[in-house]
Amino acid sequence: MNPSQWIDVVEDKFNYNLDHFVIPDHYQDDVKSILIPHGLIMDRIAKLAQIITSEYDNERITVCCVLKGGHQFFSDLINYMKKALNKQGKTLPMTLDFVRVKSYENDQSTGDVRISWTEKELKELKGKNLLLVEDIIDTGNTMKKLLATLEKYELKSLKVASLLLKKTPLSCGYVPDYVGFAVPDLFVVGYCLDYNDIFRDLDHICAISDVGKEKYSV
Ligand code: 5GP
Repeated sequence: MNPSQWIDVVEDKFNYNLDHFVIPDHYQDDVKSILIPHGLIMDRIAKLAQIITSEYDNERITVCCVLKGGHQFFSDLINYMKKALNKQGKTLPMTLDFVRVKSYENDQSTGDVRISWTEKELKELKGKNLLLVEDIIDTGNTMKKLLATLEKYELKSLKVASLLLKKTPLSCGYVPDYVGFAVPDLFVVGYCLDYNDIFRDLDHICAISDVGKEKYSV
């Protein structure tokens, strides 16, 4: 996928007023604007599912959710992929897998990337077509570390789908195979993206407010 196929979320243009959509009462003061409403997220995922599925042959793929943030995207993407057709015009057999990766505290990367796969689980990936499903690529360091870890395990193919790609000067240059939206350099929450495990129950992707940051910092 090249950048012309992503949706570019420009901060001043995509800045929906909180009053125009339903926000849970408990988050009214904690977000400052809606960047991507839930309906738009779903429509975009329907298209991503078509694009991704159409690039695979008639072979089983292992779709792996990068937890916890990728959970909602993974779940909706799989549902659309079940109905989409592959290169041969057939539905795609999928095995589902999960990996836990953690690198952030508050809105800062700790630099220490922890991956939950055991050596045994990594060896079982040999010969598989793996599609990693991630919520957001920010600097790209987490995904680079994950891909470096997978390098020696002789996978048949390895691709990455990320719902969001942050436009940040701190990017290490890593770009995933599939991107839903390119987003401004803000800390975003909602649609399972969290701030210290808060906001996963918010449907829209929003920019966190200073009040929200302060209230939920650890
Ligand atoms: P990276 O290593 O690319 O800088 O960061 C990747 C991880 O950091 C993501 O998987 C996500 O968990 C977290 N992250 C980075 N930026 C954001 C953000 O704006 N909002 C949220 N909720 N998490 C983020």
